[in-house]
Amino acid sequence: MKLIFLGPPGAGKGTQSERMCADYGVVQLSTGDILRANRKAGTELGQKAQKFMDAGELVPDQIIIDMIKEELKKPELSKGYILDGFPRTVPQAQALDKLLEDMGQKLDTVLVLEVPNEELVKRLTARRVCRVCGKSYHLIFKPPLKEGICDQPCGGELYQRDDDKEGPIMNRLKVYEDQTFPLIDYYSSKNLANKIHGLGEIGDIYSRIKTVLDKF
Ligand code: AMP
Repeated sequence: MKLIFLGPPGAGKGTQSERMCADYGVVQLSTGDILRANRKAGTELGQKAQKFMDAGELVPDQIIIDMIKEELKKPELSKGYILDGFPRTVPQAQALDKLLEDMGQKLDTVLVLEVPNEELVKRLTARRVCRVCGKSYHLIFKPPLKEGICDQPCGGELYQRDDDKEGPIMNRLKVYEDQTFPLIDYYSSKNLANKIHGLGEIGDIYSRIKTVLDKF
């Protein structure tokens, strides 16, 4: 199964992807996670991406397209994947179409997780992320067992991402509306888009997703 997971920042794509990976044996490919790992490792890519990420802006298309081209070649993706956070612009979607065509691959579906902006702001300001493994928590709805510490074996410290603070959040939501929203029409015209109501319990939202995925 190969799919794109679209949705604004804070919609719950990462949380839902974790469950989908466990149930369907696919791999989650999050461009945000890859960029953060590159920043942590101090690579040239990480340094180029830093100022855009901190401001809540998109990293230029060509940097992202070159990065994803390498990622898609990885053998662990052979069983299928969830693209989380990519594509985010029409030129990225067009580049992905070309990459998939060259690789003889086809997308099964595009999930569009829909959540109103007021809820996104609430979710993002309460999000905490593990410095070591990147797992994300919500202070109220998905708290760690021990305050400030990741539940995974890494036991990493939880922190608030700089771009999860109020100023960058508003910018990220605007960037989503201006640059990523047009992708819903892009994939609807290809009959690939499936809208998912993203409010409610995590398990209920997942059931809605499963109803769509079980068709494939
Ligand atoms: P995320 O973790 O998906 O919210 O991404 C965090 C930040 O990484 C974004 O605000 C962008 O600065 C950058 N980023 C992630 N994916 C992309 C992408 N597909 N295109 C451009 N920038 C991206």
